Amino acid sequence: MVAAKPEPDFTKKKEMVHSPLLTYFSVITLLSTCPPFVILLWYTMVHQDGSILNTFNYLKENGIEGFVNIWPRPTAIAWKIIACYALFEAALQLWLPGKRVEGPISPTGNKPVYKANGVLAYVVTLVTYIGLWWFGIFNPTVVYDHLGEIYSALIFGSFIFCVFLYIKGHVAPSSTDSGSSGNIIFDFYWGMELYPRIGKNFDIKVFTNCRFGMMSWAVLAVTYCIKQYETNGKVSDSMLVNTVLMLVYITKFFWWEAGYWNTMDIAHDRAGFYICWGCLVWVPSIYTSPGMYLVNHPVNLGLQLAISILIAGILCIYINYDCDRQRQEFRRTNGKSLVWGKAPSKIAASYTTTKGETKTSLLLTSGWWGLARHFHYVPEIMSAFFWTVPALFDNCLPYFYVAFLTILLLDRAKRDDDRCRSKYGKYWKTYCTKVPYRVIPGIY
Ligand code: NDP
Repeated sequence: MVAAKPEPDFTKKKEMVHSPLLTYFSVITLLSTCPPFVILLWYTMVHQDGSILNTFNYLKENGIEGFVNIWPRPTAIAWKIIACYALFEAALQLWLPGKRVEGPISPTGNKPVYKANGVLAYVVTLVTYIGLWWFGIFNPTVVYDHLGEIYSALIFGSFIFCVFLYIKGHVAPSSTDSGSSGNIIFDFYWGMELYPRIGKNFDIKVFTNCRFGMMSWAVLAVTYCIKQYETNGKVSDSMLVNTVLMLVYITKFFWWEAGYWNTMDIAHDRAGFYICWGCLVWVPSIYTSPGMYLVNHPVNLGLQLAISILIAGILCIYINYDCDRQRQEFRRTNGKSLVWGKAPSKIAASYTTTKGETKTSLLLTSGWWGLARHFHYVPEIMSAFFWTVPALFDNCLPYFYVAFLTILLLDRAKRDDDRCRSKYGKYWKTYCTKVPYRVIPGIY
């Protein structure tokens, strides 16, 4: 979800990046259109053969009433599936062992502490889920068959959860990294707390973003595969390529989860509708949608094409991983790591915290980070393209995620540039002179 975001500052009323009218308009539009869009996408994928035209004709004929009729009511089974899954993931997050990891220093000088048990939680989740199916205890096709009801329950449940976050931000913030913009809509949309917790150890954003959102992506990818197998007695090569690439990507995510805790989602974006609703609803519905489409469209690619797409996708996921790794290794070693076999070129950028302390961050200006200031978004978008392309081109809807991701990341590159410019001032200007392109070398 993309909208102009106010600058993060926990002490003052916020400055708008764009005009207040445009900011209000984009926030209200996203709040009101994202929930129905999730339902329409599911309905088109599952009941209209993935054809936008079919859904359009249906809505033209039946109007608003037709839309209300296709919106599934959240059923008891949907709530049960969500509750079991959420409780299971919360228990793994709390109780599985993991290394103690410190996050980056927050704007008010706090250092959040996490337990890095993501890989273990990921393995336990997939082994349990596949085991339940294998031993006939729970059939994942039940999840697919109630998908609309599950999304509907998630839409309403997550909305209530965001109201809880809003109230908690006002009455019981977990740390000093919290505050109000003075505007109820922005507080609800962008969130109030940077690191909300339940008790001392249960980090809410780790739960919503990683253990619920990203984990559900893996669980649903496996669900779609099993559904196709149970329906057709086999899994098509297109579904296999899609599932393997998504699982490689999510495995990479959990492998690097502690690194994710240093990124904008965690270190800069507060817990509100934008991030939390996005991870609780948008990730399980939109991010998984190419697989949802393939369930009823078992394209046969042939061995050569399937392997070529697989290799290209894995290469993109690797490059994206290597970009993140290069930046974090560079920061972790205080600029002493080798970058592409050489000593890195860098800028020592000073900035002032909200408490008035002067600190210095190192900016890497060689390797992937010397190609463009956000080059890592290119392989991210290409990976999504490669796990979607097995659907071929009969319908454009499976490509919605790729299009959405492209807009999201171009907006994010701008947001991050704006934030870094105001944080680092002249040092960021020097970086922009040295590395003039924002995302695509030579083009943008
Ligand atoms: P990162 O947080 O990883 O990087 C941006 C931050 O890094 C900046 O805010 C700045 O923070 C620091 N930085 C910027 N330039 C440099 C530099 N040259 N050297 C060192 N540090 C620098 O970005 P993202 O959170 O956007 O991305 C992380 C990963 O998540 C990527 O792989 C991305 O593709 C993926 N992603 C996926 C999305 C999806 O929906 N699929 C959405 C968003 C991201 P500081 O203040 O510390 O200087």
